[in-house]
Amino acid sequence: MMPLICEIVAVGTELLLGSIANTDAQDISRGLAEAGIHCYYHTTVGDNPARLREALRIARERADIIITTGGLGPTCDDLTKQTVCEAFGVPLELHPGTWERILTFFRRIGKPVTENNKQQAMVPVGGMVFENEWGTAPGCGFERGGLSVFLLPGPPKECRPMFENCLMPVLRSFSGKTIASRNIQIFGMGESAVEDKLRPLMERSQNPTLAPYAKEGEVTLRVTASAETREEAYALIDPMVKTVKTLLGSVIYGVDAASLEGVVLDLLNRNNVRLAAAESCTGGMVSSRLTGVPGASKRFVGGVVAYAREVKENILGVERAVIDEYGMVSEQVALGMASGVCRVTGAELGLGITGLAGPGGDGSDTPVGTVCLALFDARDGSSHTLTRNFGDERGRIRTMASLTALDMVRRHLTPSRVFLDGGVSSVV
Ligand code: ATP
Ligand code: MG
Repeated sequence: MMPLICEIVAVGTELLLGSIANTDAQDISRGLAEAGIHCYYHTTVGDNPARLREALRIARERADIIITTGGLGPTCDDLTKQTVCEAFGVPLELHPGTWERILTFFRRIGKPVTENNKQQAMVPVGGMVFENEWGTAPGCGFERGGLSVFLLPGPPKECRPMFENCLMPVLRSFSGKTIASRNIQIFGMGESAVEDKLRPLMERSQNPTLAPYAKEGEVTLRVTASAETREEAYALIDPMVKTVKTLLGSVIYGVDAASLEGVVLDLLNRNNVRLAAAESCTGGMVSSRLTGVPGASKRFVGGVVAYAREVKENILGVERAVIDEYGMVSEQVALGMASGVCRVTGAELGLGITGLAGPGGDGSDTPVGTVCLALFDARDGSSHTLTRNFGDERGRIRTMASLTALDMVRRHLTPSRVFLDGGVSSVV
């Protein structure tokens, strides 16, 4: 069977002006790849009927499927549906279910319904309607002479779930296969190092395929298989996951886990211990990540943003002499912060993070990007400290420091207790 070809036509002048990035096309393209549908062109066009018609004329020549995003709303620049349906000669009709939903929505928010809201309830005759559970404008689709056309709303909060929930099943049925995947999550090894280790395996593997994706500071390896059923697909995937685990070892922090902080909270739960964080250069980023996970309060006690020396000394009790001797950015100070935050909060585990996020230096000879991290375990007085350099970009330094701190907790709570530098937590 010839592979199907899809073209994404993003409609929105904002996209052309550079006000927003075309993340809808990115999300849709990922799904297309997963469904085994090829995508050769991303077209972007402004809110202009003539140019949209022109983009459609070109797209229909070279694609089997066209997916548009944006311009489904009620305002006068929202002209995608009218223009697309006119271009393909598909009449519109009122969809009573959608109209009823829009009326209910406006009744609930206490605002009057206007005539242009009715536009949103108009759908292509004989086509599909994708109810919008995430906003008001429904998505829709139709088939014309072997070409399938789908229209999705622009806001990513609506586009993404509608694509995943409503369109992906349709696309999968086109390709006649079920696709399943698992994500192997890695921290502490860069994308190129991961690729290097797995290259022979990646080159050998057709089904499942193995593809790395880099996200800030982390790498995700997606293992994807296609088969007749989901069970068969997972039966192909799971042995591959096992092989990758053997090859990469402890840098894997999860498979299909929500996040590193989620894994850390899980481990804290299982070990029945509580964590607190003393953060200098990360300014609360570790605490923020942890408190973003529902149920965090059971295991995360809280933290201290100890930016200035006074806070490190007066609140966390880091000794003046230690700061004077080793400097603010030192493993000794990080450890003092970690044990100090355990003392003031009563948590069993404490993190201490102190670093130089730049762009300017601190007058000492510590290079920008240096971060000292410490983990203190008040149960047995054991600890581990690390010094890293995360480069010269402030945002990245702070993110990497936060993730590394979380990873230290993860490693401390896993049986081997081996850290990124090969050390183990020990009692000094
Ligand atoms: P609405 O009902 O909100 O008007 P719509 O379907 O008419 O939705 P647009 O008016 O084109 O969509 O865009 C609404 C917002 O959605 C934009 O301001 C932008 O923030 C976001 N958006 C639109 N298209 C994209 C895209 N391709 N990628 C990312 N965001 C987008
Ligand atoms: Mg709009």
